Amino acid sequence: MDCIFCKIISGELPSEKFYEDEKILAFYDLNPIAPVHLLVVPKLHLDSLNEVDCGNIEYITHILSKIPQLAKECENGYRVVVNTGEDGGQTVNHLHFHIIGGRKLAYMG
Ligand code: AMP
Ligand code: ZN
Repeated sequence: MDCIFCKIISGELPSEKFYEDEKILAFYDLNPIAPVHLLVVPKLHLDSLNEVDCGNIEYITHILSKIPQLAKECENGYRVVVNTGEDGGQTVNHLHFHIIGGRKLAYMG
């Protein structure tokens, strides 16, 4: 499968890793929009949030359970974004959670 995030997970493509366990990988976004900008991906290829169901929800609950730890540096708060589909601005078709923080974020900006 020609998926850049699957290739990052397998090590075929490089990334600046932040956290990894058996289910998920967190790495720095290549084009950060804030001082903290991490991407968290399940180690299971899902095109988007639209593919989440009872059979794979454990990956999502695992990501959500780790976010407070991953975002620890953002003492004053942070934003979690999951762009979904073309209108949602999704550019990489492997489900990913953006963790954005380290500065005051404009409303939805
Ligand atoms: P989205 O627009 O929500 O699909 O987000 C995709 C994100 O992936 C963008 O913020 C990109 O900067 C980021 N990105 C694309 N390729 C890489 C890469 N090789 N390593 C790290 N981040 C990447
Ligand atoms: Zn993938």
